[in-house]
Amino acid sequence: MKPDAPILRFAPSPNGRLHLGHAYSALLNARLARRMGGLCRLRIEDIDPLRSKPDLIDAIVADLAWLGLTYPEPVRRQSRHMESYRATLQRLIDRGLAYPCFCSRGQIRARAGAMADTPHDPDGAPLYPGTCRGLDPPIRAERLARGEPHTWRLDMAAALRCAGDALGYETFDAADTRWIAADPSRWGDAVIARRDVPTSYHLSVVHDDAAEGITHVVRGRDLEAAADLHVLLQCLLALPTPRYHHHALILDPDGEKLAKSRGSQSLADLRQAGVTPEELRARLGFA
Ligand code: GLU
Repeated sequence: MKPDAPILRFAPSPNGRLHLGHAYSALLNARLARRMGGLCRLRIEDIDPLRSKPDLIDAIVADLAWLGLTYPEPVRRQSRHMESYRATLQRLIDRGLAYPCFCSRGQIRARAGAMADTPHDPDGAPLYPGTCRGLDPPIRAERLARGEPHTWRLDMAAALRCAGDALGYETFDAADTRWIAADPSRWGDAVIARRDVPTSYHLSVVHDDAAEGITHVVRGRDLEAAADLHVLLQCLLALPTPRYHHHALILDPDGEKLAKSRGSQSLADLRQAGVTPEELRARLGFA
């Protein structure tokens, strides 16, 4: 492989068994990597200590192998890199771009409910009203010293001032590349580190895409809006922006996103029902 060959990644969260949507994404990543003369890595996004189960990680690797997909070692596991995420978060805190938020979800919902026309983020959550942004520094320090549970939020206005305004990214598909302007402000003061771990999906994915030298990100359209926030974080942290391709989602017969909670069949269910990897690949358009 050439030294500047494209590097892609398939990055499941081990919160459940893989389903058809994951299979499509993994197969598309593998196909595009092959066509571009590059490689595709596997990354396990297991920052959630309660939902990520070790046996699910083994099951993911086994399901992918059953589909005919193997990956270069080492496979990155995010739970093993918490110190790197903590250091990355600290860089944003030191520059005044992140602040601790002591509000509970219930408090935020109640405040949002009390305000008419609360704006919502692209995932449908009410935008954070900024309660903890302006806390007096001594009060903030005292609450932190007391060990009060808190998340860390990006100060969006400060972040945007720091980043300037030509934020965006290149998309790619078989036909062409296109420049997409990013609008991170629609996420408001997003959580960049959760209460239980010194990171969030957004922070660790941006960190890891750079750490692993990912040049092309191929993932579902449900994460398209998140790219706006990712581009902002890359700019603030002086990390390269990969190219993005957000593919259409495989939907269930009711037109809903596949999810175990809605009873979508996992690859394991399909395998047990006698479906072969060849049949599955053909069904997803990868014959
Ligand atoms: N871990 C995420 C998921 O399973 C995907 C993250 C990404 O591709 O950026 O939905």
